[in-house]
Amino acid sequence: MSASVLELVRPDLRGFAGYSSARSAKVQGEVWLNANESPWANPADPTANCRRYPAPQPQPLREALAALYGCAPEQLLIGRGSDEAIDLLVRALCRPGRDAVVVTPPVFGMYAVSARLQDAPLREVPLRDGADGLQADIDAIIETAQASGARLVFLCSPSNPAGSGIVRADIERTARALAGQALVVVDEAYIEFSDQSSAVDLLSRHENLAVLRTLSKAHALAAARIGCVIAAPALIAVLRALQAPYPVPQPCADLALAALAPEALARTAERVQQVRGERDRLQAALAGVAGVRRVYPSQGNFVLVRFEDAEAAWQALLAAGVVVRDQRATPQLGDALRISIGTPEQNARVLAALGARREQAA
Ligand SMILES: *Cc1c(COP(=O)(O)O)cnc(C)c1O
Repeated sequence: MSASVLELVRPDLRGFAGYSSARSAKVQGEVWLNANESPWANPADPTANCRRYPAPQPQPLREALAALYGCAPEQLLIGRGSDEAIDLLVRALCRPGRDAVVVTPPVFGMYAVSARLQDAPLREVPLRDGADGLQADIDAIIETAQASGARLVFLCSPSNPAGSGIVRADIERTARALAGQALVVVDEAYIEFSDQSSAVDLLSRHENLAVLRTLSKAHALAAARIGCVIAAPALIAVLRALQAPYPVPQPCADLALAALAPEALARTAERVQQVRGERDRLQAALAGVAGVRRVYPSQGNFVLVRFEDAEAAWQALLAAGVVVRDQRATPQLGDALRISIGTPEQNARVLAALGARREQAA
């Protein structure tokens, strides 16, 4: 089974072992003089454990993340945010100038950036704007991937900035149609805010499926840069060989592990609930604001809004000291702003700046 996922990997990288770091050698000892580290800690280091190079994949963190996401540790690679995972996947699977990457604009820009850096052709299948929002066109995605011989398909669910999710049946249908040809990557950066459950459990049925998760959004740890890719162990081993020798800084690993303790996870769940409540409230209020053309349904911690005069809305928000994401340079979104869900006070400020009546803002 694992042999076939390796067929998706660039032939020149299949046997590539990567850099062999001092930390990866399997030897035992008490005095470690093999990595040219300082024998003394830096006094500025309160933990005194930054003296040594970190584990390439800190095992306690890997196990905690695997438990959180419902997979085996061998199925999971920790990287510097899911951004690094995206880049590793493109590098591992796409031969420059040949193997295409399919994306669904308007969507998170890093898929196209990584494809560009690898000189992998980009195939765009725009989201379709309908009554239920901006939705992925699964038939067109499959067709385009097959016609272009794509190696990678990025499905963003919930999608940034559109806010829509992709139902599990459609994820499975895509994976099934492209089995043996392409890896289907489900980017779940916002899944914690969604009504839908993660696609991680589908990995056991589709080995050409991968899932991206991150601590940057729901877990409030964007600065720690901890994200991961979950996929077949054979593919994870390939991605690890491509990765930098020590990709996870020790202070970040420590912080992430603390954030995965039961008490901290309970707090995270509460914050997620609060964001969901605020999202519903903000959406309802925005829908009644004069000059708002459309508020898209959202499964994320943001809302995408079309305005009759987006420039006026943008300026009104700036004048109130509120910076949102200007989407106007994005094809299909020439009149749109993306507003992240803030605290109740911050959201009230957004509504006030946009001229919501008092009862809408309350
Ligand atoms: C924010 C975001 C990410 C980046 O996550 P990091 O783990 O911080 O790199 C990935 N995908 C999408 C869709 C995002 O919006």
